[in-house]
Parts: sequence; structure tokens; C-alpha cells
Amino acid sequence: KNKLLEIKGLKTYFDTEDGLVPAVDGVDITICEGETVGIVGESGCGKSVTSLTAMRLTSGKVVAGSIAFQGKDLLALSDEEMRLLRGHEMAMIFQEPMTSLNPVFTIGQQIGEAVEIHLKLGKQKARERSVEMLKLVGIPRPEQIVDEYPHQLSGGMRQRVMIAMAMACNPKLLIADEPTTALDVTIQAQILDLMRELKEKQGTAIMMITHDLGVVAEMCDRVIVMYAGKVVEEADVVTLFTNPQHPYTKGLMNSIPSLEGQARRLYSIKGNVPVPGTIRDGCSFAPRCEFAMDYCRQHAPRLVEVESGHLSRCWLHTEEREGKGHDETAAG
Ligand code: SF4
Ligand code: MG
Repeated sequence: KNKLLEIKGLKTYFDTEDGLVPAVDGVDITICEGETVGIVGESGCGKSVTSLTAMRLTSGKVVAGSIAFQGKDLLALSDEEMRLLRGHEMAMIFQEPMTSLNPVFTIGQQIGEAVEIHLKLGKQKARERSVEMLKLVGIPRPEQIVDEYPHQLSGGMRQRVMIAMAMACNPKLLIADEPTTALDVTIQAQILDLMRELKEKQGTAIMMITHDLGVVAEMCDRVIVMYAGKVVEEADVVTLFTNPQHPYTKGLMNSIPSLEGQARRLYSIKGNVPVPGTIRDGCSFAPRCEFAMDYCRQHAPRLVEVESGHLSRCWLHTEEREGKGHDETAAG
């Protein structure tokens, strides 16, 4: 399969009072045409910043690495070229649709604007395309809804509108950042079905950013687990669930969601994701890892292939910790 998005050695740092702090710290992600890749991890692991960097929507600084989309170097594009790519060939949906819907324009105006620009359609055709997209995402009475404003719709309907907007231009890649997290379970299932259907119809590749392993199991072909700004494990979805290798992934698998309304925490791994940049030596998971060895606290593990197509960043898989040990920069 052809590579669609290729992120290599990406480092996105934020300028803070304490200096430059890494949010994404040397990440490689490849997504092929039509593939759904899950990016999982707790909040603060760098998954959203990675995707925002790929869309060139982050306020962080890219201090190293490259991002290629269909072979094009995204970091070298002008703002105007990037704006045209966004919404056309790459689209993004978020947890909260109101962040991408404009309250003062009707649904039809918003979908219409995207297709007028990107598909170069006239007003009338753009309106027809909007109605067609609303139909496609399962919105009842699309001819009426097209003239309504975002606040007139329920949360689930707004999410559908945002998906309609994102998909209206047939993007090659859809980046979905926690697209169903704010919705109740029934609507959540409907939205996921919808995304799967659109993906099949339009051949869209999806980068699915989520902390929900249920969503991953249902949607993804391949999974990338991130921790503290780094990829710690990568595998196809069946392998990840049947044979997880990294202690962090195992922790995610074992954790039981506790459903305490708003304050629910999905993971029960003891401790917290470290503040970026605070762990400078060794494995950043060491403070929470039940297998941590002294060696782990002094040497950062590399991402190694434990079997074909299955990568994990942990000294438990590596013979070489007995020998010289590599540092992070040598690992690339
Ligand atoms: Fe745990 Fe050590 Fe592996 Fe890090 S390298 S995950 S501390 S065993
Ligand atoms: Mg996030």
C-alpha cells in the first residue's frame, strides 16, 4: 500500500517559562492509503500535539523531524498551500464540534464554503453537495437542517455535521481527535459506524486519536501507543490486544474503566504521565513501571522490533542492555 502520511523523528516543543519543553519527542508515524491507525495513550502523551503538528495547527515549535503527505513536505509549504490542503485532502474532527463550527453561519453555509473553495463548486451546487453530505451522515430532514444554525442541533447531530463538513471534500486523510468522547454510548456507536461507512465508501485513511481501547478495537487496523511524547509500542490491532509487549500497554489493557460521571478516569495505572521534559534520563515510564530495573532509570530504551511489524520501547526485550546501551539520539 502507498504511504499517505509519513512523520519521521518529529519533535514539537513548547516555549515555556522553564524553557523549551518537549510535547512530542521523536515520533515516527506512517499511515497508508485507506488505513485506520489508532494513536492511544493518556492525555498529555503527545497524541493531540502530534496530529495538530501534522495539520500545522499547533502553537508549538517543530524543532526536528519531517512530515510528508503524499510525498509533499508539509513543513515546507506556505500557509496558503497548507490552508488549501487542510479541509481538502486532510481534514480534522474534534471532540467538541463547536470548536470547528461557526455559530453565526448556517450548517449549509459552512459545508458549502468548504466545497466551494476546495471542489470549486458554485453556490447552488455547493448547497446540493451540503444536503447530500447531511444525508450521508444520517441527518434527518437535511433540506431543512441545511438552513439551521449549529446551536439548534443536539450534540450528536453537531458531531455528524462536523463529520459531514470534514468529509465533504473527500479527504484522503481524516484526523479524528477523540471524536466520540463527549457523546453518550448509543450516539458514540452510531458515529463510529458512520465513520467506518464513510471510510469504506470514500477510501479515507483515518488517524484515530483516542484514549478508549474499545474504539481502537472496533475501528483500527494498526495501533500506536504513545507515552510521554514518544511511541512506546506499535502493532496491528489483533497483535496489540492479544500480545501486548510494553508494560504501559499492558497497564492500559488491564485497567478497568470506572464510570463516575464527569470525573471518570479510564486508566488505573498508578501515578501520572510525567510533566514533559522532567524525566531526562532513562525510561520515562520507569516511575510507574512494575518491571523497572535500575538500568531503566539510567538508559532510555530504544524502539525495537519484537516481531515483524511489532515494535516496543522497553529494555525487557533487549539483550543489549547487558552490553553498551544506546541513548535516545542514537536510536533516532
Ligand atoms: Fe519498565 Fe524498564 Fe521497560 Fe521502561 S524500560 S517500560 S521501566 S521495564
Ligand atoms: Mg487530546
